[in-house]
Amino acid sequence: MSRSHSICHMRRHWLKAGASLALAGLVSRPALASVQQATGMRELSFYNRHTGESLKTSYWAEGDYLTEALVDINHILRDHRTNDILPIELPLLDMLHTLQGVLATPRPFQIISGYRSPKTNAVLSANSGGVAKRSLHMQGKAIDICIEGIRLDQLRLAAISLQRGGVGYYPASNFVHVDTGRVRAW
Ligand SMILES: [Zn+2]
Repeated sequence: MSRSHSICHMRRHWLKAGASLALAGLVSRPALASVQQATGMRELSFYNRHTGESLKTSYWAEGDYLTEALVDINHILRDHRTNDILPIELPLLDMLHTLQGVLATPRPFQIISGYRSPKTNAVLSANSGGVAKRSLHMQGKAIDICIEGIRLDQLRLAAISLQRGGVGYYPASNFVHVDTGRVRAW
């Protein structure tokens, strides 16, 4: 595994835009938070490490999940090997939204793995002892993530503190797995 692959940062062409976006996010964060509270919006941002795609979207507003935003989220979290899409569970999105708030970071979740088709999961499972044969990734209930500028052990503890599902710690591969299954940690 190359050094650049093992660290949670964006690809080189993303660094400049990412840095200025992050700075803008930090500066405007209190204002943004109050606007989101006042208008009842939930926002999520993602960066897909495999495809280079990024997404920042409000997926919930005034008590409703927003279909167009969910389509975009499901697309960026698709199985990038087969392009198969499965709707990601809404409780998982809400958990991520809470997690982003707890960590108080304007930076996106970097996606190491979102939805995994049965075919992809079988291949990964055969090649790695760390991939479960009946993974919650196959049900749209799990995601492997890291966030630039957030230590992996902080991300793990924050996820565990939510008590909303499973949290797996994979420091050698530089990601934390979160799912909406049984509350557990490994
Ligand atoms: Zn996982």
